[in-house]
Amino acid sequence: MFRRIAILLLLVGIWATPSLAQTAARCAPYQEQSVATDLEIATRMAASAAAAVGDTETFATWFGTYTDRNAEQVRAVLKQVHAKLLSQRLALTCATKSDQTCQEAFAWVFPASGVIRLCPDYFFLPSMERAHAGEDINLGSREGALIHEISHAVSGTDDDCITWADCRTLARRSPATAILSANSYESFAEDVMLQLMAAAETVAPPM
Ligand SMILES: [Zn+2]
Repeated sequence: MFRRIAILLLLVGIWATPSLAQTAARCAPYQEQSVATDLEIATRMAASAAAAVGDTETFATWFGTYTDRNAEQVRAVLKQVHAKLLSQRLALTCATKSDQTCQEAFAWVFPASGVIRLCPDYFFLPSMERAHAGEDINLGSREGALIHEISHAVSGTDDDCITWADCRTLARRSPATAILSANSYESFAEDVMLQLMAAAETVAPPM
């Protein structure tokens, strides 16, 4: 009997799980809703970015002069980020402005636990859902910020550039550093997504 109850509870637990099983602790309902959509888009972005790695102008913009070895490293990181997003085993927590770590950050990750802390300013970042080519996302997007933080957690990336402008300069000056930089991955994924969205708009103009 006990066993049957335990199994039932387990089943209820599984059924109660939302489509994205990541836990978002201490988030307001509007934040939870945003995070669920952001994670879905970030998953698609990471997959598209991994598939877009090649000897292209976009690769050179964010990771510098193309080499097979660097491309392999970049693809591996993006695949690790994508796998983590697909695993639905991300732990996220919403923080308040009074949290010291949120004074100057959109989000943080604790590498040991892999818990991503979303700061209030995260929710003021634009979503890629509404971004258009040419729109200023110099400081990045919400989905890009998730890719950034996950790359710290799963691939041990560093913070070597912060804005799109910084990261372009870093790629020109030091490809070896750019391929270790979280924001270079974020910017590359955002750039690839913008290009895909622009191409889709060209194919199917709005009525
Ligand atoms: Zn970072």
